[in-house]
Amino acid sequence: MSRPIILMYHRIADDPIDHWGLCVSPARFEEQLVALRRTRHPLPLLQFTRQMVAGTLSSDAVALTFDDGYADNFTAALPLLTAADIPATVFVATGYVGRDEPFWWDELVTLILFGEGPAHFELAIAGTPMSFDLDTDGREDRQTQYVVSQTRRTALDLIYQRLRRLDKDQRTAAMCELRSILITQGSPAGRPMTADQVRQLAAGGLVSVGAHTVTHPVLTDLDPLACRHEVTASKLVCEALVGTSVAAFAYPFGEFNAATSEIVRNAGFAFACTTRRGGVDPVFNMFELPRVYVPNVDLDVFERRLQHVS
Ligand SMILES: [Zn+2]
Repeated sequence: MSRPIILMYHRIADDPIDHWGLCVSPARFEEQLVALRRTRHPLPLLQFTRQMVAGTLSSDAVALTFDDGYADNFTAALPLLTAADIPATVFVATGYVGRDEPFWWDELVTLILFGEGPAHFELAIAGTPMSFDLDTDGREDRQTQYVVSQTRRTALDLIYQRLRRLDKDQRTAAMCELRSILITQGSPAGRPMTADQVRQLAAGGLVSVGAHTVTHPVLTDLDPLACRHEVTASKLVCEALVGTSVAAFAYPFGEFNAATSEIVRNAGFAFACTTRRGGVDPVFNMFELPRVYVPNVDLDVFERRLQHVS
């Protein structure tokens, strides 16, 4: 017995590193769309939630979402969605739109896993000194064919967990310091959309835009005033970009609590998506909608994962 589900994607791209598991390859995404067309009833997210409230949502309903606002949503996903005639919602972190730099978590991967620099270094994160040893133990990562040491992966996860809880200024300072310590060749593949790409993405009518805050903070760490600003300002920017009202919100890192979802509701959103895994039920709180994360898997695994959503 299938259940109505909201799928969560981030990037449609071939990225052999993809440390965070955000990419689905264009070829696999295309296969998934064909399968969804055949086996499911794809709906725009707004219609999906309206039918959910009305109790008329069919058990095979599916809505697609993309988080963050990567440029490949426009360049790679949109043509495939259009060909399959499947609607989607893209949640945009508005502070990154049009910036000629990667999302910080992608740059962090490039710096820590592949940066060249001293074997040992100290980094002060928000005033707290941390020390790292990046001496390569040469462990080969068979999945990616890249040689990445376990010490670097450990350092990456430690620094990431600290950075994601900082405010933008503190995080920018820490990233600046890291750039002065570690040198990288090339830059991460994933870029945010330009304002024009966001406009064009929404202009076709198949893809709608949702808000995902301004700076992509952990909302539950913020005081109410700062939280309200992140939520409201991102809504206003999205609305100015696409010229319509924006009803959909997604919590950065999936972090929310009763206070943050109340702020989202009061900002005028109709519903909000989390990263909790699960199918949708009519009795669910509209501001705590679960989703199903889609990894870069082949069609068999994809279909099995969809069948086993509880
Ligand atoms: Zn996000």
